[in-house]
Amino acid sequence: MARVYNFSAGPAVLPEDVLREAAAEMLDYRGSGMSVNEMSHRSATFQEIIDTAESDLRELMGIPDSYRVLFLQGGDSLLFAAVFMNLAINKKADYIITGSWASKAYREAEILGDPKVIASSQDRNFSYIPDCSDLPIRADASYVYICQNNTIYGTAFHGLPNTKGHVLVADQSSMFLSEPVDVTDFGLIHAGVQKNVGPAGVQIVIVRDDLIPDDLPGVPTMLRFKTQADAGSLYNTPNCWGIYICGKVFKWVAGQGGLAGMRARNEEKAALLYDYLDESDLFRPTVEQGSRSRMNVTFVTGSADLDAMFVAEAAKQGLVSLKGHRSVGGMRASIYNAMPLAGVQKLVGFMRDFERTHTA
Ligand SMILES: *Cc1c(COP(=O)(O)O)cnc(C)c1O
Repeated sequence: MARVYNFSAGPAVLPEDVLREAAAEMLDYRGSGMSVNEMSHRSATFQEIIDTAESDLRELMGIPDSYRVLFLQGGDSLLFAAVFMNLAINKKADYIITGSWASKAYREAEILGDPKVIASSQDRNFSYIPDCSDLPIRADASYVYICQNNTIYGTAFHGLPNTKGHVLVADQSSMFLSEPVDVTDFGLIHAGVQKNVGPAGVQIVIVRDDLIPDDLPGVPTMLRFKTQADAGSLYNTPNCWGIYICGKVFKWVAGQGGLAGMRARNEEKAALLYDYLDESDLFRPTVEQGSRSRMNVTFVTGSADLDAMFVAEAAKQGLVSLKGHRSVGGMRASIYNAMPLAGVQKLVGFMRDFERTHTA
């Protein structure tokens, strides 16, 4: 068995311990005589899996009782619409555009109502986070929307926008559980788990109770947050396997020192890579200082041919999925929670060798 260092942006690396545990339980989950894949979502055994997952997540993030935790399906992209349908009661919400995912969220809102762009970093290909200290937020906007970590462009908010008392909504997909958060800063947090937490097919929504509308005329049952909030995320068949793996990852994160432990690990890994990028004569980071993501690190050589050669040669060394997104080009190393420090050390070592070989 040859495990690689997998720098994929998502679906992405998972903790090896979690995969081993799941493998050991594949044929017989704790004496049930069956796999979690074969189990009724109405069984007591599955109820315990989802209850434990929720309470472990609440503990990790310090989620107050006044917030609901939902395990949903349909893709994080479906939540772009669902969030607007549920929270933009007057069909007005204001968006900060820092990349593709925020743009997509905005475009869904455009289909449904009257969103407004109040800040954008499109002028420099989303290579920075705009100043959000004094935004032209509409008085009647239901919320301010951010994508807190921009998976494609490699930027992240290192401080939240001044929402002037408005509700803040954040897409945390590619940074969920990577550092401590104060949940009470947000009205709603949503995240697709396939970036930093689990297998594809589960989205977690953490939403303040009083923001969930009782009645939403014209909105399908499955798009109302109240439906799954009332049913404990079991209105219909959930992604049982995905929730089960997420639960294991929550326990793994807790065992690594919780979110503070995760931040320390992630800071160390990111510093190693960025410090090298800043001193390199060949590679250059694409994101400005102060806006850099600790999860998705984007860089280029300046030559598309050399970039392609780097990606191919890295793969031969077991450093895989380093090709950047087509909208940025170059390389992207996603160094999520489950990427060990040794993986980043090996990457930087390989980059130094490559630089020596390819600079005169
Ligand atoms: C990947 C990603 C999404 C989209 O997730 P899907 O589940 O594929 O719809 C949305 N937001 C961010 C920040 C992402 O990284």
